[in-house]
Amino acid sequence: METLAIDGGRPVASNCWPDWPRPLEGIEELVASTLRSGRWALSGPWRGKRCQEQEFASRFAAYNGVAHCVPTANGTSALLIALESLDVGAGDEVIVPGLTWVASASAVLNVNAVPVLVDIDPATLCLDPAAVEAAITPRTRAINVVHLYSSMVDLDRITEIADRHGIPVLEDCAQAHGARWRDRPAGSWGRVGTFSMQQTKLLTAGEGGAVITDDSDLFDRLFQLRADGRRLTASPPGEYEMELIESSSVMGNNYCLSELAAALLIGNLEVLDKEHEIRHANAEQLKRLLADVPGVTPVETPVETPAGVTNRTYYQYALRIDTSEFAGQPIEWIRRALSAELGVPINRCYPPLSDNPLYQPRTKTRYHLSDEHVRRIDPARFDLPQARRAHAEVLTFHHAVLLADPAEIDHIAEGLDKVRRLAPDFGAMRPNQ
Ligand SMILES: *Cc1c(COP(=O)(O)O)cnc(C)c1O
Repeated sequence: METLAIDGGRPVASNCWPDWPRPLEGIEELVASTLRSGRWALSGPWRGKRCQEQEFASRFAAYNGVAHCVPTANGTSALLIALESLDVGAGDEVIVPGLTWVASASAVLNVNAVPVLVDIDPATLCLDPAAVEAAITPRTRAINVVHLYSSMVDLDRITEIADRHGIPVLEDCAQAHGARWRDRPAGSWGRVGTFSMQQTKLLTAGEGGAVITDDSDLFDRLFQLRADGRRLTASPPGEYEMELIESSSVMGNNYCLSELAAALLIGNLEVLDKEHEIRHANAEQLKRLLADVPGVTPVETPVETPAGVTNRTYYQYALRIDTSEFAGQPIEWIRRALSAELGVPINRCYPPLSDNPLYQPRTKTRYHLSDEHVRRIDPARFDLPQARRAHAEVLTFHHAVLLADPAEIDHIAEGLDKVRRLAPDFGAMRPNQ
């Protein structure tokens, strides 16, 4: 008799999923030559050649079709300097999706501004443009859009709304390196685009980040904002002299990316598009297989060529589950059962920021600027029904799974169908109420 893996049965799959991150061939030499170069930081002295940080900046700007890139220590500091470059500050409102990683909102708090949490479109799990428009007030200074999991926000509608109101868009692409909307890279649509290169992301150095922009004035500010206000010398300095000079138009902090991390990013950027192709082919195969599994629907922005998403990327593959097809079991049980079948962690979708244990502005006295400010930043004042629903219905799994051998991809659909068929009736498991 067939038994679920959580009940001691044989799992559908095990040990077939690639490790992430994985060291590329040749990466050791790239890192080793950086180690021997005598320069481990942008803020170190000149040693006869361009530093890795600046080399990566050029390559990543070119990859995204923009004029400028400022690497940062992580995605959080990228968001922080992006907000500061746009002059977002004390008491200003910034529209933030109610469903996202906590940094999207906490970065706004850290510039003394007010995150206005706005609900999502259930079809994409990204900001709902109509809800964005309804949330705009005379104090709105930026719209922080996030391309979540494997979707993109509707950039046509967001751009139209933002332009009409004269509000800049900050595009958080921490989960979407290389995605394209109407054949134009994610991050190049907003006034600024931000990225995270943290360990789980599509492009990674363990920790790292970047901001991109086409605007030369913003670039000049962004450069200083992450280097304690310093700028780059116009031409290379003498050996052992500083390449950063103390000429400043705006006060900054140190959020610089190390040379070792930059070397890893240079190497990993080389293979990013090849990995996207593998994930894309596997995701297409998975979508075909899932069409035969009742109650399971991939979450994705509709692809229309040339409109809409023209390059889909997959940070987490998201699935909406109709729990009634799984004998009414709660999503948490389905998550555990599927994790056991596939031998890989399956995740719940983020909780809404109005109810996220990681988002608690009250616990930091630095935000107690006034009673009014404390009230304005209280996450509980925002109603986010679609984000709440997503947390109860959506499961995700990491993109490394989509780098597996295509033969293994069938297991994902098999595992889902096995859990669906064998789910014990949830009503029967509980005493009548
Ligand atoms: C990962 C992530 C961040 C934060 O990046 P870190 O590098 O971890 O600081 C911000 N926004 C989103 C949407 C993310 O996924």
